[in-house]
Amino acid sequence: MLINLSELFSCQGKVKTYTQELEMEQFPGPAGLYTIEKREPVILEITHIKERKISVSGEARLTLLMPCDRCLEPVKVPFVLPIQEELDMGQSEEERVEALDEQPYISGYNLDTDQLVRNELMLNLPMKVLCKEDCKGICGQCGKNLNQGSCSCEEQPKDPRMAVIQDIFKRFKEV
Ligand SMILES: [Zn+2]
Ligand SMILES: [Zn+2]
Repeated sequence: MLINLSELFSCQGKVKTYTQELEMEQFPGPAGLYTIEKREPVILEITHIKERKISVSGEARLTLLMPCDRCLEPVKVPFVLPIQEELDMGQSEEERVEALDEQPYISGYNLDTDQLVRNELMLNLPMKVLCKEDCKGICGQCGKNLNQGSCSCEEQPKDPRMAVIQDIFKRFKEV
């Protein structure tokens, strides 16, 4: 949703609180689109500091469905994103992008809450997503999810040294 900031500039030091519903249903992450499973309205407190400067603070809470790194099953990943930004509306869009190194969420006098939250999400994505600590992943040969039981594929170690060790183990078993 867009917040029109023009009335905030009518007098210095003005503070206004905005409650914004997120409109996005998916988040374009680096590895594909993630569904937003749950979201709460974003509450933003916007302060007119002086002249063309404003500060934005608040918090966004949402849950993304992200694929498990090992088995690809969707995992619910909750986020609590603190928002703390200071903006100079006097800057051009290009200058702001350069200064913040992120997608612009201000256009004219409008603040795009969805874009602001997308920027914060991008910075807070986890390095690793697992459905559970000991996820067994999927079989590299048949693609079966090994959390749901083992498959009948033979384990074929690619490293010949591993094959030697396996032979030794087999011999022990036969004795
Ligand atoms: Zn998994
Ligand atoms: Zn298999």
